[in-house]
Amino acid sequence: MSSAIEALKALAEGFGTTFKHLGRKPITEQYPEYKRPLPERTRARIVLTCDPGGDERCVACFLCSAACPVSCISMEAAERKKDGRRYAGWFRINFGRCIFCGLCEEACPTSAIQLTPDFEICKRDVLSMVYEKEDLQVNHGGKDREYNFYRYAGVVTLVRGKGEHVKETEPVNIRSNMP
Ligand code: SF4
Ligand code: SF4
Repeated sequence: MSSAIEALKALAEGFGTTFKHLGRKPITEQYPEYKRPLPERTRARIVLTCDPGGDERCVACFLCSAACPVSCISMEAAERKKDGRRYAGWFRINFGRCIFCGLCEEACPTSAIQLTPDFEICKRDVLSMVYEKEDLQVNHGGKDREYNFYRYAGVVTLVRGKGEHVKETEPVNIRSNMP
């Protein structure tokens, strides 16, 4: 008996929801004429950003590639002759496989790789979903425009040594730390 009452209650709730919406005016968004503004954190098309000085942020550390659950990021590391700074000689993302999980962005130590709200990248030809470095690079810092990995991270380059970066103290000589 109680199960019959529960079933009737569930039925009434279902019909209640239906009747509640019957009198409402429909909300129809005319896409693509109207594009609803999406939150900045929406995870869609991936870009490679640059630091405030205009240098590419990616240091070809492979962390994004290692974190990617579908292995759709590949690259080759290179080193700049003038200051020893690492960069990606080539960088490739296969958007045909990408599931827009955002793990690459989470893993990136330099804020280079970022997901954007631009979701209109679908194509019929799956081969055209393979984006090269020049298709991914943008000329701004994306979500964190002021961040400059090389100024903060303490990485030694030909331009700055240990202890010469922002908020960095001189390295300790461990041989002087005698009891
Ligand atoms: S969003 Fe996810 S699936 Fe896409 S490239 Fe990044 S880690 Fe890989
Ligand atoms: S995008 Fe970020 S995580 Fe990926 S290789 Fe470049 S610096 Fe490393």
